[in-house]
Amino acid sequence: MPTRTTNNRLAGLLAGLLLAPAAPATAGTPLFDAHLHYQADQRAAIPPEEIIAILADNGIEHAVVTSTPPANAQLLAETAPDRIVPFLGVYRDRADKEGWMHDATLPERVERWLAAGDWRGIGELHIFGRDRDSPVLRQLVEIAADGDLVLMIHGDLAIIDHIFEIEPDSTVLWAHLGDRPEPTILRAALARHPQGLFIDTSVRDERFLDARGDLLPEWRALFIAHPRRFVVGVDTYSLPRWRRFDDAANTIRQWLDQLPASVARRIARENARELLLDPLLLGLPKD
Ligand SMILES: [Zn+2]
Repeated sequence: MPTRTTNNRLAGLLAGLLLAPAAPATAGTPLFDAHLHYQADQRAAIPPEEIIAILADNGIEHAVVTSTPPANAQLLAETAPDRIVPFLGVYRDRADKEGWMHDATLPERVERWLAAGDWRGIGELHIFGRDRDSPVLRQLVEIAADGDLVLMIHGDLAIIDHIFEIEPDSTVLWAHLGDRPEPTILRAALARHPQGLFIDTSVRDERFLDARGDLLPEWRALFIAHPRRFVVGVDTYSLPRWRRFDDAANTIRQWLDQLPASVARRIARENARELLLDPLLLGLPKD
């Protein structure tokens, strides 16, 4: 015969079970995804509300989104202003990805886009050392510095160095661990640019994980040595990438879980929050 206390305890347990919300399949540490695209074909296939649901289901608390055309990122930001941090994608088409740095009409267009919308950054900009002397690059670096905007750069270390030569106060998100994802190169880059350089780890998991999904020792050491300089991102470079978002987010959480908790929290979200969210919202002093 169960006692009254046991009955109460059972009733409490049952109520707790009934009230507990169903945990999403990939629930875990909230992530700030610093590298997403919402391109024209992706928008045609997946409406903005569904994109936001994918992010919510995967515990993506905030996300940087860039797009061609730029209106797509803005549409997402309007759909979920507390979750989406829009970056201005400056390409009109695939040709611009290769040739934007030679298009003298681009800076004016960028200034018009910036004036017409609310943007936190510019990019993703693809550019390598051979084009470092491009006046268009110089102008975009100056525009970004003037507007306190982050530059998302897909390029090599020569370009990163040059951006900080042009504007030492630049803030750069260096995509995909740079073009040569090697700890010695990244250590050197972080030492040369101790203030404004941040590095996203997107789509480079296979470089720092072994076949079992374990962090390679030299990469683990790098992340621990520089916990404030790395951020994560799924990088939805294609429509299938959005369809399999869960897999990529799970992989990110699996390697973050192998780091000391304080380092994992920094890379998972705190670095990006401090870099990209309004300091007033975070209650942080602005410098
Ligand atoms: Zn990208």
